Amino acid sequence: GTGSSSLSSRSCNYSEIEEDDDIIINLKLGDPTVYERYWQEMGEVTTVVIHGWQSLSYFSDNNNNLCWFLEPELGKEIVRVHKLVGNAETQDHFIVVGTGSTQLYQAALYALSPHDDSGPINVVSAAPYYCSYPLITDCLKSGLYRWGGDAKAYKEEDPYIELVTSPNNPDGLLRHAVVNRNEGILIHDLAYYWPQYTPITTKANHDVMLFTVSKSTGHAGMRIGWALVKDRETARKMTEYIELNTIGVSKDSQLRAAKVLKVVSDSCGNEMAKSFFEHSYDAMSERWKLLKQAAENTKRFTVPYFTSQRCNFLGKVFESQPAFAYLKCEEGIVDCERFLRENKKILTKSGKYFGDEESYVRISMLDRDTNFNIFLHRISSSYNANVQVH
Ligand code: PMP
Repeated sequence: GTGSSSLSSRSCNYSEIEEDDDIIINLKLGDPTVYERYWQEMGEVTTVVIHGWQSLSYFSDNNNNLCWFLEPELGKEIVRVHKLVGNAETQDHFIVVGTGSTQLYQAALYALSPHDDSGPINVVSAAPYYCSYPLITDCLKSGLYRWGGDAKAYKEEDPYIELVTSPNNPDGLLRHAVVNRNEGILIHDLAYYWPQYTPITTKANHDVMLFTVSKSTGHAGMRIGWALVKDRETARKMTEYIELNTIGVSKDSQLRAAKVLKVVSDSCGNEMAKSFFEHSYDAMSERWKLLKQAAENTKRFTVPYFTSQRCNFLGKVFESQPAFAYLKCEEGIVDCERFLRENKKILTKSGKYFGDEESYVRISMLDRDTNFNIFLHRISSSYNANVQVH
């Protein structure tokens, strides 16, 4: 059954927390464990039984799809959830499934880079950008592409690939391409373009759009992402990359992802009960309310400003409530990550990893309630770690 208590109801009276232990709170990564409770309360509806005789073949029973290893059931549920939420156009797009959107990012670079002798194409993104992009882009020192840094500083005349992450990681702001030239090749990373994080105002309709269950349903460990790709040749080359890299994508994971997405879509059609997105919207909303209060009260840090917009899916006006909070330490704290680590025993990710200043840190808003509450308590109180962490 769906259970009766909501995802946000068991939260956050952080002022009552007894700070008797000195545990380290790690909010460095965006591990989406906030969703665990919702899926526990859903019980067996997402359980998938996979028999020993299933998933033996490399191939999917799917002769007419360009992405030959895409499970038809998953393809169907991807189209269905986008149609329901209205966040992306699936018509006239090919679906390419990947081992997380991380693999699809690499597949997109492979597919979009010129394979002639012109040398590596520059890959740029406006700072602060997702910290994994430069690392993934340069880890194999490819002859096809290389990290070109902050898109706002990119003045070269050569062709380039621009990554547009909207809502953005780390700061949650909505974004458009910033390099102001026509011949730019764009990759849109829309991992966070879901109604629990930001109002769905338009149906995204770009050439290459990346999505993932990691941030939509919270199943990061399943390692399933998908790309919606307009151009047939680009989709074919992305498929070719995944064929070379891993000869396809785990069928077991695809079947699980299909089931989870189906349950998410089914929950949206139920007039009587809250949908998955309403549950997760409420949880994020509660957390952001508490974080903003804490910022207001302590005046030690600021959070980004988000404008209110009407969400076509949820049918209400709200401000973005991103998966990460990008905090700026005030009062002359130069190295905010160090300050939080040494004084509060909270591990965060410094702005420097996102091509930004060290007075910023990114903290995950997707951790379990207990950790989030201790985090809030520590930043709002006079708590000061007596043993320093290095
Ligand atoms: N893109 C962005 C913007 C992300 O924040 C993340 C996860 N932190 C990813 C991609 C990677 O997602 P996946 O787990 O699907 O590889």
